[in-house]
Amino acid sequence: MKKLETFNPSTGECLAKLSITPSKELQAMLTRAKKAQIEWARKSIRVRANLILKAYEKIGDRAQKMADLIHKEMGKIPSEARLEVDSNITSISQIADKVIEALKPEETTDGVTRTTSYWDPLGVNACITPWNFPMGMPQTLMIPSLIAGNTVLFKPSEEVPLVGIEYAKILNKTLPSDVLQVVVGSGEQGQELVASDVQLITFTGSQTTGKHILEHAGKGLKRVLLELGGKDSLIILDDADLDAAAKFAASNSFRNTGQVCVSTEKIFVMEGQMREFVNKIKKYTDEIQVGPMIHSRQKDHVLQQIDEAVSGGAKIIYGDPQKTEGNHLQPVILVDVTPEMNIMMDETFGPVVCITAVKNENEAVEQSNLGSYALGGVVFSTNLDHARSVARRLDAGMVGINRRVGGASGSPWVGAKGSGYGYHGSSGGHRQFTQLRIVSEPL
Ligand code: NDP
Repeated sequence: MKKLETFNPSTGECLAKLSITPSKELQAMLTRAKKAQIEWARKSIRVRANLILKAYEKIGDRAQKMADLIHKEMGKIPSEARLEVDSNITSISQIADKVIEALKPEETTDGVTRTTSYWDPLGVNACITPWNFPMGMPQTLMIPSLIAGNTVLFKPSEEVPLVGIEYAKILNKTLPSDVLQVVVGSGEQGQELVASDVQLITFTGSQTTGKHILEHAGKGLKRVLLELGGKDSLIILDDADLDAAAKFAASNSFRNTGQVCVSTEKIFVMEGQMREFVNKIKKYTDEIQVGPMIHSRQKDHVLQQIDEAVSGGAKIIYGDPQKTEGNHLQPVILVDVTPEMNIMMDETFGPVVCITAVKNENEAVEQSNLGSYALGGVVFSTNLDHARSVARRLDAGMVGINRRVGGASGSPWVGAKGSGYGYHGSSGGHRQFTQLRIVSEPL
Protein backbone atom coordinates (compact mmCIF):
# COMPACT_ATOMS: atom_id res chain seq x y z
CA MET A 1 0.00 0.00 0.00
CA LYS A 2 1.33 3.47 -0.91
CA LYS A 3 2.46 5.58 2.03
CA LEU A 4 2.29 9.27 2.78
CA GLU A 5 5.13 10.63 4.88
CA THR A 6 4.56 13.65 7.06
CA PHE A 7 7.42 15.77 8.39
CA ASN A 8 8.22 18.31 11.06
CA PRO A 9 9.03 21.36 8.88
CA SER A 10 11.38 22.74 11.49
CA THR A 11 13.62 19.70 11.92
CA GLY A 12 12.85 17.58 8.86
CA GLU A 13 12.02 14.63 11.13
CA CYS A 14 9.56 12.14 9.63
CA LEU A 15 6.58 12.10 12.00
CA ALA A 16 4.61 9.27 10.45
CA LYS A 17 4.10 7.10 7.39
CA LEU A 18 0.40 6.81 6.68
CA SER A 19 -1.46 4.56 4.27
CA ILE A 20 -2.83 6.52 1.34
CA THR A 21 -6.54 5.92 0.74
CA PRO A 22 -6.75 3.68 -2.34
CA SER A 23 -9.25 4.56 -5.08
CA LYS A 24 -11.37 1.51 -4.32
CA GLU A 25 -11.59 2.40 -0.65
CA LEU A 26 -12.48 5.99 -1.53
CA GLN A 27 -15.46 4.73 -3.53
CA ALA A 28 -16.50 2.48 -0.64
CA MET A 29 -16.25 5.44 1.74
CA LEU A 30 -18.45 7.46 -0.57
CA THR A 31 -21.07 4.71 -0.60
CA ARG A 32 -21.04 4.63 3.20
CA ALA A 33 -21.19 8.43 3.38
CA LYS A 34 -24.29 8.47 1.16
CA LYS A 35 -25.99 5.85 3.29
CA ALA A 36 -25.10 7.60 6.54
CA GLN A 37 -26.33 10.91 5.17
CA ILE A 38 -29.93 9.68 5.02
CA GLU A 39 -30.03 8.94 8.75
CA TRP A 40 -27.97 12.01 9.62
CA ALA A 41 -30.38 14.30 7.79
CA ARG A 42 -33.32 12.72 9.65
CA LYS A 43 -31.99 13.96 12.96
CA SER A 44 -33.10 17.43 13.95
CA ILE A 45 -30.64 20.23 13.26
CA ARG A 46 -30.36 20.89 17.02
CA VAL A 47 -29.44 17.26 17.67
CA ARG A 48 -26.76 17.38 14.98
CA ALA A 49 -25.35 20.60 16.40
CA ASN A 50 -25.36 19.22 19.95
CA LEU A 51 -23.38 16.16 18.91
CA ILE A 52 -20.73 18.44 17.48
CA LEU A 53 -20.72 20.68 20.55
CA LYS A 54 -20.24 17.59 22.72
CA ALA A 55 -17.22 16.60 20.66
CA TYR A 56 -15.79 20.09 21.15
CA GLU A 57 -15.85 19.56 24.92
CA LYS A 58 -13.41 16.74 24.26
CA ILE A 59 -11.31 18.97 22.04
CA GLY A 60 -11.26 21.47 24.90
CA ASP A 61 -9.85 18.76 27.21
CA ARG A 62 -7.06 18.11 24.69
CA ALA A 63 -6.43 21.67 23.56
CA GLN A 64 -2.74 21.68 24.46
CA LYS A 65 -2.13 18.29 22.83
CA MET A 66 -3.80 19.53 19.66
CA ALA A 67 -1.73 22.75 19.73
CA ASP A 68 1.46 20.72 20.21
CA LEU A 69 0.60 18.59 17.18
CA ILE A 70 -0.10 21.69 15.05
CA HIS A 71 3.23 23.17 16.15
CA LYS A 72 5.06 19.95 15.31
CA GLU A 73 3.44 19.13 11.98
CA MET A 74 2.72 22.59 10.56
CA GLY A 75 5.52 24.53 12.21
CA LYS A 76 3.65 27.52 13.62
CA ILE A 77 5.10 28.84 16.85
CA PRO A 78 3.51 27.38 20.03
CA SER A 79 1.55 30.51 20.98
CA GLU A 80 -0.02 30.77 17.50
CA ALA A 81 -0.81 27.05 17.49
CA ARG A 82 -2.60 27.36 20.83
CA LEU A 83 -4.42 30.46 19.60
CA GLU A 84 -5.71 28.53 16.58
CA VAL A 85 -7.12 25.77 18.81
CA ASP A 86 -8.58 28.13 21.42
CA SER A 87 -10.22 30.48 18.94
CA ASN A 88 -11.86 27.54 17.18
CA ILE A 89 -13.18 26.14 20.45
CA THR A 90 -14.44 29.53 21.63
CA SER A 91 -16.36 30.25 18.46
CA ILE A 92 -18.07 26.89 18.04
CA SER A 93 -21.29 27.32 19.99
CA GLN A 94 -22.02 30.66 18.36
CA ILE A 95 -21.37 29.15 14.92
CA ALA A 96 -23.76 26.31 15.72
CA ASP A 97 -26.49 28.74 16.79
CA LYS A 98 -25.98 30.89 13.69
CA VAL A 99 -26.20 27.91 11.35
CA ILE A 100 -29.42 26.74 13.00
CA GLU A 101 -30.89 30.22 12.69
CA ALA A 102 -29.81 30.62 9.06
CA LEU A 103 -31.41 27.31 8.06
CA LYS A 104 -34.80 27.85 9.74
CA PRO A 105 -37.60 27.58 7.15
CA GLU A 106 -38.85 31.01 6.06
CA GLU A 107 -42.34 32.02 4.97
CA THR A 108 -43.23 34.60 2.35
CA THR A 109 -46.80 35.62 1.49
CA ASP A 110 -48.22 37.98 -1.10
CA GLY A 111 -51.89 37.88 -0.03
CA VAL A 112 -52.68 35.04 -2.45
CA THR A 113 -49.96 32.45 -1.90
CA ARG A 114 -47.86 31.27 1.03
CA THR A 115 -44.38 30.06 0.11
CA THR A 116 -42.05 28.31 2.52
CA SER A 117 -38.32 28.18 1.82
CA TYR A 118 -36.33 25.21 3.13
CA TRP A 119 -32.56 24.84 3.25
CA ASP A 120 -32.00 21.11 2.82
CA PRO A 121 -28.71 19.22 2.95
CA LEU A 122 -27.07 18.61 -0.40
CA GLY A 123 -25.69 15.13 0.32
CA VAL A 124 -21.99 14.32 0.56
CA ASN A 125 -19.49 17.16 0.88
CA ALA A 126 -15.92 16.64 -0.33
CA CYS A 127 -14.01 18.99 1.91
CA ILE A 128 -10.43 19.73 0.79
CA THR A 129 -8.27 21.95 2.97
CA PRO A 130 -4.80 23.57 3.04
CA TRP A 131 -2.04 23.27 5.62
CA ASN A 132 -1.71 26.78 7.06
CA PHE A 133 -4.53 26.50 9.63
CA PRO A 134 -4.79 22.73 9.95
CA MET A 135 -7.68 22.81 12.42
CA GLY A 136 -9.21 26.19 11.56
CA MET A 137 -9.71 25.57 7.84
CA PRO A 138 -11.44 22.18 8.26
CA GLN A 139 -13.65 23.61 11.01
CA THR A 140 -14.75 26.47 8.79
CA LEU A 141 -15.82 24.21 5.96
CA MET A 142 -16.98 21.08 7.77
CA ILE A 143 -18.96 22.28 10.77
CA PRO A 144 -21.71 24.27 8.97
CA SER A 145 -21.89 21.50 6.40
CA LEU A 146 -22.37 18.78 9.03
CA ILE A 147 -24.91 20.78 11.01
CA ALA A 148 -26.82 21.37 7.78
CA GLY A 149 -27.18 17.58 7.44
CA ASN A 150 -24.49 16.70 4.92
CA THR A 151 -21.95 13.97 5.48
CA VAL A 152 -18.30 14.78 4.80
CA LEU A 153 -15.34 13.16 3.09
CA PHE A 154 -12.48 15.23 4.43
CA LYS A 155 -9.08 15.42 2.76
CA PRO A 156 -6.57 17.38 4.80
CA SER A 157 -3.44 18.65 3.08
CA GLU A 158 -0.70 16.06 2.70
CA GLU A 159 1.46 18.40 4.82
CA VAL A 160 -0.76 18.09 7.91
CA PRO A 161 -2.60 14.76 7.82
CA LEU A 162 -1.93 13.99 11.49
CA VAL A 163 -3.76 17.12 12.66
CA GLY A 164 -6.64 16.38 10.28
CA ILE A 165 -6.92 12.78 11.46
CA GLU A 166 -6.77 13.79 15.13
CA TYR A 167 -9.44 16.49 14.68
CA ALA A 168 -11.75 14.06 12.86
CA LYS A 169 -11.06 11.35 15.45
CA ILE A 170 -12.31 13.59 18.26
CA LEU A 171 -15.40 14.67 16.28
CA ASN A 172 -16.09 11.02 15.55
CA LYS A 173 -16.29 10.26 19.26
CA THR A 174 -19.81 11.70 19.17
CA LEU A 175 -20.79 11.62 15.48
CA PRO A 176 -22.55 8.52 14.09
CA SER A 177 -20.43 6.20 11.90
CA ASP A 178 -19.49 7.41 8.43
CA VAL A 179 -20.84 10.93 8.90
CA LEU A 180 -17.24 12.19 8.77
CA GLN A 181 -14.49 10.16 7.11
CA VAL A 182 -10.90 11.13 6.34
CA VAL A 183 -9.27 10.58 2.97
CA VAL A 184 -5.50 10.40 3.33
CA GLY A 185 -3.35 11.48 0.44
CA SER A 186 -2.14 14.23 -1.83
CA GLY A 187 -3.56 16.24 -4.72
CA GLU A 188 -4.16 12.95 -6.51
CA GLN A 189 -6.71 11.89 -3.90
CA GLY A 190 -8.13 15.42 -4.03
CA GLN A 191 -8.72 15.00 -7.75
CA GLU A 192 -10.37 11.64 -7.22
CA LEU A 193 -12.70 13.19 -4.69
CA VAL A 194 -13.59 16.00 -7.07
CA ALA A 195 -14.33 13.48 -9.81
CA SER A 196 -16.40 11.23 -7.52
CA ASP A 197 -20.17 11.38 -7.14
CA VAL A 198 -20.27 13.96 -4.34
CA GLN A 199 -22.85 16.73 -4.34
CA LEU A 200 -20.75 19.52 -2.88
CA ILE A 201 -17.07 20.42 -3.02
CA THR A 202 -15.80 22.87 -0.42
CA PHE A 203 -12.22 23.94 -0.85
CA THR A 204 -9.71 26.31 0.66
CA GLY A 205 -6.36 26.61 -1.05
CA SER A 206 -4.48 28.12 -3.95
CA GLN A 207 -6.00 29.81 -6.96
CA THR A 208 -4.39 27.24 -9.28
CA THR A 209 -6.00 24.28 -7.54
CA GLY A 210 -9.28 26.16 -7.23
CA LYS A 211 -9.43 26.68 -11.00
CA HIS A 212 -8.68 23.02 -11.54
CA ILE A 213 -11.47 21.98 -9.20
CA LEU A 214 -14.00 24.33 -10.75
CA GLU A 215 -13.21 23.09 -14.24
CA HIS A 216 -13.64 19.44 -13.28
CA ALA A 217 -16.62 19.92 -10.97
CA GLY A 218 -18.38 21.81 -13.75
CA LYS A 219 -18.66 18.64 -15.79
CA GLY A 220 -20.89 17.10 -13.13
CA LEU A 221 -22.64 20.41 -12.27
CA LYS A 222 -21.47 19.93 -8.70
CA ARG A 223 -21.95 22.69 -6.20
CA VAL A 224 -18.59 24.31 -5.43
CA LEU A 225 -17.40 26.69 -2.74
CA LEU A 226 -13.83 28.01 -3.13
CA GLU A 227 -11.78 30.13 -0.73
CA LEU A 228 -8.59 31.01 -2.58
CA GLY A 229 -5.35 32.90 -2.17
CA GLY A 230 -4.76 36.60 -1.70
CA LYS A 231 -2.31 39.45 -2.26
CA ASP A 232 -3.53 41.88 0.37
CA SER A 233 -2.61 45.55 0.47
CA LEU A 234 -2.26 47.92 3.37
CA ILE A 235 -2.88 51.57 2.48
CA ILE A 236 -1.60 54.11 4.94
CA LEU A 237 -3.33 57.44 4.34
CA ASP A 238 -1.64 60.75 5.10
CA ASP A 239 -3.75 61.20 8.24
CA ALA A 240 -2.94 57.74 9.67
CA ASP A 241 -1.41 56.93 13.04
CA LEU A 242 1.92 55.79 11.57
CA ASP A 243 3.01 53.95 14.67
CA ALA A 244 -0.18 51.91 14.87
CA ALA A 245 0.01 51.20 11.14
CA ALA A 246 3.62 50.00 11.39
CA LYS A 247 2.83 47.78 14.37
CA PHE A 248 -0.09 46.24 12.50
CA ALA A 249 1.97 45.86 9.32
CA ALA A 250 4.78 43.94 11.03
CA SER A 251 2.37 41.61 12.75
CA ASN A 252 0.07 41.04 9.78
CA SER A 253 2.88 40.54 7.28
CA PHE A 254 4.84 38.02 9.30
CA ARG A 255 2.27 36.19 11.47
CA ASN A 256 2.47 32.44 10.79
CA THR A 257 5.66 33.22 8.81
CA GLY A 258 3.50 35.11 6.31
CA GLN A 259 1.64 31.91 5.44
CA VAL A 260 -1.81 33.40 5.89
CA CYS A 261 -4.25 34.07 3.04
CA VAL A 262 -4.86 37.59 4.37
CA SER A 263 -1.24 38.45 5.15
CA THR A 264 -0.26 41.98 4.21
CA GLU A 265 2.01 41.56 1.16
CA LYS A 266 1.95 45.10 -0.33
CA ILE A 267 2.12 48.35 1.63
CA PHE A 268 1.43 51.79 0.16
CA VAL A 269 2.51 54.82 2.14
CA MET A 270 2.58 58.51 1.18
CA GLU A 271 5.98 59.72 -0.08
CA GLY A 272 6.49 62.24 2.72
CA GLN A 273 5.93 59.58 5.38
CA MET A 274 7.98 56.78 3.85
CA ARG A 275 11.14 57.25 5.88
CA GLU A 276 9.36 57.46 9.24
CA PHE A 277 7.16 54.47 8.41
CA VAL A 278 10.11 52.33 7.33
CA ASN A 279 11.93 53.05 10.60
CA LYS A 280 8.87 52.10 12.58
CA ILE A 281 8.08 48.86 10.74
CA LYS A 282 11.71 47.76 11.10
CA LYS A 283 11.49 48.35 14.85
CA TYR A 284 8.31 46.29 15.18
CA THR A 285 9.63 43.53 12.92
CA ASP A 286 12.57 43.10 15.30
CA GLU A 287 10.03 41.90 17.87
CA ILE A 288 8.42 39.26 15.64
CA GLN A 289 9.09 35.57 16.12
CA VAL A 290 8.54 33.32 13.11
CA GLY A 291 8.52 29.55 12.66
CA PRO A 292 9.77 27.61 9.63
CA MET A 293 8.10 27.69 6.25
CA ILE A 294 6.02 24.61 5.51
CA HIS A 295 8.46 23.05 3.05
CA SER A 296 11.45 23.83 0.83
CA ARG A 297 9.26 24.33 -2.29
CA GLN A 298 7.41 27.17 -0.59
CA LYS A 299 10.69 28.70 0.59
CA ASP A 300 12.17 28.41 -2.92
CA HIS A 301 9.14 30.14 -4.41
CA VAL A 302 9.59 33.04 -1.97
CA LEU A 303 13.34 33.27 -2.61
CA GLN A 304 12.77 33.26 -6.34
CA GLN A 305 10.30 36.14 -6.07
CA ILE A 306 12.84 38.11 -4.00
CA ASP A 307 15.66 37.33 -6.48
CA GLU A 308 13.61 38.43 -9.47
CA ALA A 309 12.57 41.62 -7.71
CA VAL A 310 16.15 42.47 -6.73
CA SER A 311 17.35 41.80 -10.30
CA GLY A 312 14.64 44.21 -11.45
CA GLY A 313 15.88 46.99 -9.13
CA ALA A 314 14.15 46.31 -5.80
CA LYS A 315 16.14 46.86 -2.59
CA ILE A 316 16.17 44.72 0.53
CA ILE A 317 16.02 47.04 3.54
CA TYR A 318 15.44 44.43 6.23
CA GLY A 319 16.52 40.79 6.58
CA ASP A 320 18.86 38.66 4.55
CA PRO A 321 17.29 35.97 2.36
CA GLN A 322 20.71 34.34 1.93
CA LYS A 323 20.72 33.52 5.63
CA THR A 324 18.42 30.52 5.64
CA GLU A 325 18.66 27.24 7.41
CA GLY A 326 16.47 24.30 6.45
CA ASN A 327 12.97 25.68 5.89
CA HIS A 328 13.63 28.73 8.04
CA LEU A 329 13.55 32.20 6.52
CA GLN A 330 13.54 35.38 8.59
CA PRO A 331 11.34 38.40 7.69
CA VAL A 332 12.37 40.40 4.64
CA ILE A 333 11.25 43.93 3.70
CA LEU A 334 11.65 45.26 0.15
CA VAL A 335 11.34 48.75 -1.35
CA ASP A 336 11.73 50.14 -4.87
CA VAL A 337 9.48 47.43 -6.26
CA THR A 338 7.43 48.09 -9.40
CA PRO A 339 3.82 47.04 -10.01
CA GLU A 340 4.56 44.55 -12.78
CA MET A 341 7.04 42.51 -10.70
CA ASN A 342 5.93 38.98 -9.88
CA ILE A 343 6.35 39.73 -6.17
CA MET A 344 3.71 42.48 -6.54
CA MET A 345 1.28 40.42 -8.63
CA ASP A 346 1.47 36.80 -7.46
CA GLU A 347 0.81 35.51 -3.96
CA THR A 348 4.04 35.21 -1.93
CA PHE A 349 2.75 33.31 1.11
CA GLY A 350 5.93 33.84 3.06
CA PRO A 351 7.65 36.31 5.43
CA VAL A 352 8.12 39.11 2.89
CA VAL A 353 6.49 42.49 2.49
CA CYS A 354 6.98 45.16 -0.21
CA ILE A 355 6.63 48.86 0.59
CA THR A 356 5.87 51.41 -2.13
CA ALA A 357 5.91 55.18 -1.64
CA VAL A 358 2.98 56.76 -3.51
CA LYS A 359 2.11 60.34 -4.43
CA ASN A 360 -1.53 60.07 -3.38
CA GLU A 361 -4.30 57.68 -2.42
CA ASN A 362 -5.48 57.27 -6.02
CA GLU A 363 -2.17 55.72 -6.89
CA ALA A 364 -2.40 53.44 -3.82
CA VAL A 365 -5.91 52.28 -4.75
CA GLU A 366 -4.98 51.73 -8.38
CA GLN A 367 -1.97 49.59 -7.47
CA SER A 368 -3.88 47.69 -4.79
CA ASN A 369 -6.48 46.65 -7.32
CA LEU A 370 -4.00 45.32 -9.87
CA GLY A 371 -3.93 41.58 -10.50
CA SER A 372 -6.40 38.77 -10.07
CA TYR A 373 -6.45 38.51 -6.27
CA ALA A 374 -8.97 40.44 -4.18
CA LEU A 375 -9.27 38.74 -0.82
CA GLY A 376 -8.58 41.40 1.80
CA GLY A 377 -7.17 44.88 2.24
CA VAL A 378 -6.56 47.28 5.11
CA VAL A 379 -6.73 51.07 5.29
CA PHE A 380 -5.20 53.12 8.10
CA SER A 381 -6.45 56.63 8.82
CA THR A 382 -7.52 58.63 11.86
CA ASN A 383 -10.42 60.01 9.83
CA LEU A 384 -13.07 57.29 9.51
CA ASP A 385 -14.94 58.95 6.63
CA HIS A 386 -11.71 59.26 4.72
CA ALA A 387 -10.82 55.61 5.42
CA ARG A 388 -14.30 54.40 4.43
CA SER A 389 -14.21 56.25 1.13
CA VAL A 390 -10.91 54.55 0.25
CA ALA A 391 -12.12 51.17 1.56
CA ARG A 392 -15.10 51.28 -0.80
CA ARG A 393 -12.80 51.78 -3.79
CA LEU A 394 -10.86 48.55 -3.15
CA ASP A 395 -11.76 45.42 -5.11
CA ALA A 396 -11.12 43.19 -2.08
CA GLY A 397 -13.96 41.13 -0.62
CA MET A 398 -13.02 42.19 2.93
CA VAL A 399 -11.52 45.47 4.08
CA GLY A 400 -10.42 46.37 7.58
CA ILE A 401 -10.09 49.94 8.80
CA ASN A 402 -7.30 50.32 11.36
CA ARG A 403 -7.60 46.56 11.98
CA ARG A 404 -7.51 43.13 10.38
CA VAL A 405 -9.91 42.21 7.60
CA GLY A 406 -12.12 39.67 9.40
CA GLY A 407 -15.46 41.18 10.41
CA ALA A 408 -17.59 41.01 13.55
CA SER A 409 -18.42 37.45 14.58
CA GLY A 410 -21.13 36.09 12.31
CA SER A 411 -20.04 38.14 9.31
CA PRO A 412 -19.03 36.49 6.04
CA TRP A 413 -15.54 35.49 4.96
CA VAL A 414 -15.46 36.42 1.31
CA GLY A 415 -12.95 36.81 -1.48
CA ALA A 416 -13.69 38.78 -4.64
CA LYS A 417 -12.34 38.37 -8.22
CA GLY A 418 -9.89 35.45 -8.31
CA SER A 419 -9.82 35.01 -4.54
CA GLY A 420 -13.09 33.22 -4.09
CA TYR A 421 -16.15 31.60 -5.53
CA GLY A 422 -18.99 31.68 -3.05
CA TYR A 423 -18.33 32.45 0.60
CA HIS A 424 -18.92 31.13 4.10
CA GLY A 425 -19.84 32.56 7.49
CA SER A 426 -23.05 34.65 7.98
CA SER A 427 -26.59 33.47 7.12
CA GLY A 428 -25.90 33.66 3.41
CA GLY A 429 -22.64 31.73 3.82
CA HIS A 430 -24.17 28.94 5.93
CA ARG A 431 -26.86 28.50 3.30
CA GLN A 432 -24.26 27.73 0.66
CA PHE A 433 -23.86 24.26 2.16
CA THR A 434 -27.51 23.52 1.35
CA GLN A 435 -30.06 23.10 -1.40
CA LEU A 436 -32.82 25.69 -1.31
CA ARG A 437 -36.32 24.36 -2.02
CA ILE A 438 -39.68 26.09 -1.85
CA VAL A 439 -43.20 24.79 -1.29
CA SER A 440 -46.13 27.09 -2.16
CA GLU A 441 -49.84 26.83 -1.26
CA PRO A 442 -52.89 29.00 -1.73
CA LEU A 443 -53.78 31.21 1.21
P1 NDP B 1 -3.19 23.95 -2.46
O1 NDP B 1 -4.17 24.53 -3.40
O2 NDP B 1 -1.91 23.48 -2.98
O3 NDP B 1 -3.84 22.70 -1.71
C1 NDP B 1 -5.06 22.79 -1.00
C2 NDP B 1 -5.67 21.40 -0.89
O4 NDP B 1 -6.03 20.93 -2.18
C3 NDP B 1 -4.72 20.37 -0.31
O5 NDP B 1 -5.44 19.45 0.48
C4 NDP B 1 -4.18 19.71 -1.56
O6 NDP B 1 -3.68 18.44 -1.34
C5 NDP B 1 -5.43 19.67 -2.43
N1 NDP B 1 -5.19 19.54 -3.87
C6 NDP B 1 -4.05 19.82 -4.56
N2 NDP B 1 -4.26 19.64 -5.89
C7 NDP B 1 -5.57 19.26 -6.02
C8 NDP B 1 -6.40 18.95 -7.14
N3 NDP B 1 -5.94 19.01 -8.40
N4 NDP B 1 -7.69 18.63 -6.93
C9 NDP B 1 -8.18 18.59 -5.67
N5 NDP B 1 -7.45 18.87 -4.57
C10 NDP B 1 -6.16 19.19 -4.74
O7 NDP B 1 -2.99 25.03 -1.31
P2 NDP B 1 -2.01 24.94 -0.06
O8 NDP B 1 -2.32 23.72 0.75
O9 NDP B 1 -0.61 25.14 -0.52
O10 NDP B 1 -2.47 26.20 0.84
C11 NDP B 1 -2.05 27.49 0.61
C12 NDP B 1 -3.07 28.28 -0.19
O11 NDP B 1 -4.31 28.32 0.49
C13 NDP B 1 -2.67 29.73 -0.38
O12 NDP B 1 -2.93 30.12 -1.71
C14 NDP B 1 -3.60 30.47 0.55
O13 NDP B 1 -3.81 31.81 0.22
C15 NDP B 1 -4.83 29.65 0.48
N6 NDP B 1 -5.72 29.90 1.63
C16 NDP B 1 -6.87 30.65 1.45
C17 NDP B 1 -7.69 30.96 2.52
C18 NDP B 1 -8.96 31.76 2.35
O14 NDP B 1 -9.74 31.82 3.29
N7 NDP B 1 -9.22 32.37 1.22
C19 NDP B 1 -7.33 30.53 3.88
C20 NDP B 1 -6.12 29.75 3.95
C21 NDP B 1 -5.34 29.47 2.85
P3 NDP B 1 -2.14 18.25 -0.94
O15 NDP B 1 -1.73 19.36 -0.04
O16 NDP B 1 -2.19 16.98 -0.22
O17 NDP B 1 -1.39 18.27 -2.23
